Amino acid sequence: MRDVVILGSGCAGWTAALYLARANLKPLVLTGAQMGGLLTTTSVVENYPGFPQGVDGTTLMVQMMEQAQKFGAEVEFGVVADEVTLGRPLHRIRAGGKTIETRVLIISTGAGHRHLDVPGEKELETKGVTYCATCDGALPMFRDQPVVVVGGGDSACEEATFLTRFASKVYLVHRRAELRASKIMAERALGNEKIEPVWNSVVESVEGMKEGKVTGIKIRDQVTGKSSLLACAGVFIAVGHVPNTQIFRDKLPMDEAGYLQLGPGSRTKVEGVFGAGDCADKVYRQAITAAGMGCMAAIDAERYLAGG
Ligand code: NAP
Repeated sequence: MRDVVILGSGCAGWTAALYLARANLKPLVLTGAQMGGLLTTTSVVENYPGFPQGVDGTTLMVQMMEQAQKFGAEVEFGVVADEVTLGRPLHRIRAGGKTIETRVLIISTGAGHRHLDVPGEKELETKGVTYCATCDGALPMFRDQPVVVVGGGDSACEEATFLTRFASKVYLVHRRAELRASKIMAERALGNEKIEPVWNSVVESVEGMKEGKVTGIKIRDQVTGKSSLLACAGVFIAVGHVPNTQIFRDKLPMDEAGYLQLGPGSRTKVEGVFGAGDCADKVYRQAITAAGMGCMAAIDAERYLAGG
């Protein structure tokens, strides 16, 4: 039996682990499939305070983990929670083929990539369709080839800019005529001569099933209604995220998109269960806000365990 189990190993999870470890509660962190979560798929994090030169996402996650471990946090790598039973006084978690009982559960499971759900997307994943430029952008199949980035947010701009290092040309396909990205990211992308924006366009399909690799995308111009083919060797999809809260469906209140509803503070509607980070935040979704929410969850959990 545990005092605290933390699900997830992003900024929220590690910050909660650090605070709870320092409170001598020996938290157990189940990292999930990918230690460090989505931040490890970013190149340089430029907006985490304290790193004026920027910091590599994976480095930041490893340092947070080491800081939590230094004070006694325990970590199980690659372990994913499959099922939870929430109840008082103990919550039960099925993970890695065993059952763990805990008085407090902190949910910091983050978010995953949103899909376009168009023909060819699933079939050609790893054959030119990808959700992570940092992971796949340097692959030989994209070198000196035209590629497409889909989306208009910070991720799309960051990925497009990154891909100019390898691709011959980067088309930035966005469904509106204005980017959602922050000014600095948008200016950096649009100012790059290798990036060509394709406005008001939605992806209808990814082409290349016959060839067994991406050969292009079919897009529809939202203004003219006309469809056309855009030849490319890669499609980098950066259209936002979906919260990883599926195992809590029907167990905890969440909004229609699946984000956990919290309050007061980090409390869920079930006693002893707290939420933090991207799985509960569709507004800010920053590394620093996730870390702040992890801190809140740890303090709320500590007070709950102390009977406060
Ligand atoms: P986002 O801000 O939610 O942007 C998603 C983009 O995808 C939007 O432009 C949206 O279009 C488009 N989109 C959504 N669904 C679509 C669909 N079905 N078909 C076509 N397009 C679709 O997501 P994000 O760019 O991943 O950023 C998430 C958060 O992380 C943000 O808070 C961002 O600031 C942060 N971030 C920060 C950095 C950094 O500072 N280094 C880097 C990456 C991300 P509309 O604009 O029309 O809605």
